[in-house]
Amino acid sequence: MKTVKLNNGIEMPILGYGVYQVTPEECERCVLDAISAGYRSIDTAQAYNNEEGVGNAIEKSGVPRSELFITTKVWISNAGYAKAKDSIEESLKKLKTDYIDLLLIHQPFSDYYGTYRAMTEAYKAGKVKSIGVSNFYPDRLVDFCEFNDVIPAVNQVETHPFQQQKEAHKIMEKYGVQHESWGPFAEGRKDMFTNPVIKTIGDKYGKTVAQVILRFLIQNNVVVIPKTTHKERMIENFDVFNFELTDTDINAIAALDESESAFFSHYDPKIVEMLAGYGK
Ligand code: NAP
Repeated sequence: MKTVKLNNGIEMPILGYGVYQVTPEECERCVLDAISAGYRSIDTAQAYNNEEGVGNAIEKSGVPRSELFITTKVWISNAGYAKAKDSIEESLKKLKTDYIDLLLIHQPFSDYYGTYRAMTEAYKAGKVKSIGVSNFYPDRLVDFCEFNDVIPAVNQVETHPFQQQKEAHKIMEKYGVQHESWGPFAEGRKDMFTNPVIKTIGDKYGKTVAQVILRFLIQNNVVVIPKTTHKERMIENFDVFNFELTDTDINAIAALDESESAFFSHYDPKIVEMLAGYGK
């Protein structure tokens, strides 16, 4: 598996498996399927309510813990030093592990500086191997990097062909923060899986739209964590290391960028209210 080297020297698989909207009942089976398909990196979050399923799968998979890369995220309701600290212990318990490979602040709201202090402490204690952020758009990311000693290793933001985050990517590169995509397929919005430009490119290589999108992001040095509950799609999404997009292909997909979220804007006060209320 191709990896990226994070700013603290830790290697992270460039392709992983995400479990957002995977039900607690299905999560263990899905993660076991993903691991048997070859995935070694799993992305969950406190807010997904399925960390236990990931933990059960880690335990049952038979794959040594050292070969797995587990990411989870501290939710807004656990923001602030004391609550975040407790929540990290809770995540470790649910994940049935004594360390988390990557811990992210899920959203840049409430007392996320306090959250980061607890995360930094856990990082220094070896309970967490790398710490980072998610949904930090350039203004917040710059502020955060300027006023913290430990620069976030990763920033996980919505990134797909219609929202490529080209300017944000440059800022992440400038500060040494690895760009990670959430929603590589925009969850199928905007007819992603039948997009004619991407489909034509895929036909040349005998690859699906999903595979071309993942390859496009990987070639742009963006970490990807596609989600699916179907094993055949897990296998399909993993099979992206035996072809290469040309510059012409990349430019054609780059031209699809609308530089706009396919979901919602983190700058919209109504969305901030909605996110703040979720999980309170
Ligand atoms: P996504 O990966 O863009 O899309 C998932 C959707 O695509 C599911 O409906 C899945 O359907 C379908 N799909 C997957 N592979 C397919 C294929 N090969 N062909 C056709 N359909 C396919 O969306 P996402 O789950 O929102 O994002 C990925 C991960 O990013 C999440 O699971 C989570 O770990 C992370 N994430 C993080 C944040 C954040 O705020 N940090 C937000 C959102 C997501 P089936 O499941 O029915 O196969």
